[in-house]
Amino acid sequence: MEENALWRLYHTLLAYYGPQHWWPAETPFEVIIGAILTQSTAWRNVERAIQNLKRAGALSPAELAARPEPELAALIRPAGYFNAKARKIKAFVHHLMTAHGGRLESLFDQDVSSLRRELLGLYGIGPETADCIILYAAGQPSFVIDAYTRRILERLGLIDDARADYTALQALFTSHLPRETALYQEYHALLVRHGKELCQRIPRCGDCPLAATCAFGRVRHALPPPADHPRRTPSLRPRRRQSPVR
Ligand code: SF4
Repeated sequence: MEENALWRLYHTLLAYYGPQHWWPAETPFEVIIGAILTQSTAWRNVERAIQNLKRAGALSPAELAARPEPELAALIRPAGYFNAKARKIKAFVHHLMTAHGGRLESLFDQDVSSLRRELLGLYGIGPETADCIILYAAGQPSFVIDAYTRRILERLGLIDDARADYTALQALFTSHLPRETALYQEYHALLVRHGKELCQRIPRCGDCPLAATCAFGRVRHALPPPADHPRRTPSLRPRRRQSPVR
């Protein structure tokens, strides 16, 4: 990949959308619960589930540890897959209470790789959820890769396959960008915003600030590829696997 392509992408999105001030939560613990709840669902559904938890006074490690799993599942029902997500939240909270005395400061008091290893060892926490927790709750640099990121990079012609390995895609960003928490937070938030607003499953390329250099967008507008863009011709038909997860 050309050295500055990821920087150009970042600055174009930042100039177009402005700072996103992520993650949308009041506390690091709320970030963690939101990161679990947002698996395979839209954020508006997560917001309803979080509101239910707040109204019930349940949004704390001690409260969630004390609640029976079926009661928790009922509270988070709007987020979908509520039985599985209740089990995941209970597993996380149980670990936090038993291994760290319920204190996030204790969990987060380690370097990124050992924190990531610990999180990935918990039921229901995969790489994307772990990186969201590390980046937005712990405030440490771990770049998040999600379905929006995959779709945008593939359409721009920066990767060949949106199904590329998570670790390889993450390395693509971390090898081209300084290891800075604020930058990683803003970059991921901008990609999500762009994936929701313009680069949707059926993209709105006519309004997109990236259209002039986007392989997919140029084909949609029947424009010739730029002279320095050696990409293959992408399909115009959005693929089902490229659908956003939230
Ligand atoms: S031009 Fe179209 S396909 Fe390319 S990034 Fe913009 S919205 Fe997505």
